Amino acid sequence: MDFAVTDEQRMLIETAQRFVEEELYPHERVVEDTDTLPVEIAERIKQKSQELGLYAAAMPAELGGSGLDTLSMTMLDRVLGQASYALHYTVYRPSNVLQACVGAQRERYLYPCIRGERVDCFAMTEPGAGSDVRGMQCRAVRDGDDFIINGTKHFISHADWADFVILMAATGEEEEGAPPENRGPRKKITTFLVDKGTPGFTVRPGYKNVSMRGYHNFILDFDECRVPQSQVLGDVDKGFDVANDWLGATRLQVAATCLGRCDRALALATRWCVERKQFGQQIGKFQGVSFKLADMALKLKAAELLTYEAAWKHDQGTMSDSDAAMAKLAASEALAFIADEAIQIHGGMGLMNELPLEMIWRDARLERIWEGTSEIQRHIISRSLLRPHGG
Ligand SMILES: Cc1cc2nc3c(=O)[nH]c(=O)nc-3n(C[C@H](O)[C@H](O)[C@H](O)COP(=O)(O)OP(=O)(O)OC[C@H]3O[C@@H](n4cnc5c(N)ncnc54)[C@H](O)[C@@H]3O)c2cc1C
Repeated sequence: MDFAVTDEQRMLIETAQRFVEEELYPHERVVEDTDTLPVEIAERIKQKSQELGLYAAAMPAELGGSGLDTLSMTMLDRVLGQASYALHYTVYRPSNVLQACVGAQRERYLYPCIRGERVDCFAMTEPGAGSDVRGMQCRAVRDGDDFIINGTKHFISHADWADFVILMAATGEEEEGAPPENRGPRKKITTFLVDKGTPGFTVRPGYKNVSMRGYHNFILDFDECRVPQSQVLGDVDKGFDVANDWLGATRLQVAATCLGRCDRALALATRWCVERKQFGQQIGKFQGVSFKLADMALKLKAAELLTYEAAWKHDQGTMSDSDAAMAKLAASEALAFIADEAIQIHGGMGLMNELPLEMIWRDARLERIWEGTSEIQRHIISRSLLRPHGG
């Protein structure tokens, strides 16, 4: 295993760092204060990131992306992840699952996303089905060569920016779960590509949320929404196969962006330890403060190693669900700790919006919930230990 940064990766990191400082940080205040990302700022970020090859960077070069391997992509996400989520997400990364597009689907969905002409959103979660995705009620019933979709999805991120949704819906009959984890009937799931404007598909505002200002969630309603079979991504009833092939990389993306915010919070806290004086000396000279820095650095390093190892394994084709879960769990929990301690080190100033720490702290809360809660990551890790022993 070798995580030594190559010359190409160093150039990528330096380019991305300049981009973050020049194109993202200057707009953070307006996004935080207004909970809105102005269109002209989004357009400029998109254009600049396309010029620099940062846009759709994970997509293979033969498809028109930058063709970065997962480890390089993790390093890039780490740098971009330092900035407010709404701004950094504008450096769009089409959902990995779109690589499962075939034939005309590629022309209609995959290539336009890579070129920056279209944006996707991904809808799995429902009011009654969060962690338990197999409990979903949204159903697609076959009608000749079409499917008729009925149901509701909620918490769907950036459905306002999106042109279409990658939708997971239950199809076919329920079947019994396989032992040893038989928890009753499980649903067969199919993945659909549904364009905005399709009759019977509506998008309405979701909930106000403490994290990720300017980056909103929405409720998607499907009412007798007719979609042709050609809009199925992958095979009918095999929606989880499509998702599982590509979603591990999405957990790594969350881990990487958490590392970026850890870097930023730790750097601010370190500087404050040197600049801030109380009782006639730098506060970093008090062991009660300096040990916090040591613990922050330790947790960050552990999360970094788990994330880079998982990314490296992904590039070798050997990453397991447990590897991705460990990376996501360690990085999101490190961020929660580091953001909180960075504020403690700053005292009252840490909570003021002169500094980005209160934003990092608010945003950190979401990272332990989306893309699988911390409990679900622990479930995945423990299952990988127990299963070989018949557990
Ligand atoms: C801002 C935001 C944006 C989101 N964006 C998207 C999106 O774009 N697309 C999308 O599909 N989803 C999205 N989500 C949904 C997100 O993935 C879910 O919120 C998450 O999977 C948890 O589901 P839930 O909120 O329904 O919590 P629940 O599943 O109801 O969990 C409640 C609690 O029970 C615990 N729990 C549940 N099951 C178990 C178990 N087996 N073992 C131990 N503990 C358990 C959980 O860990 C949690 O603590 C978003 C969520 C948020 C908040």
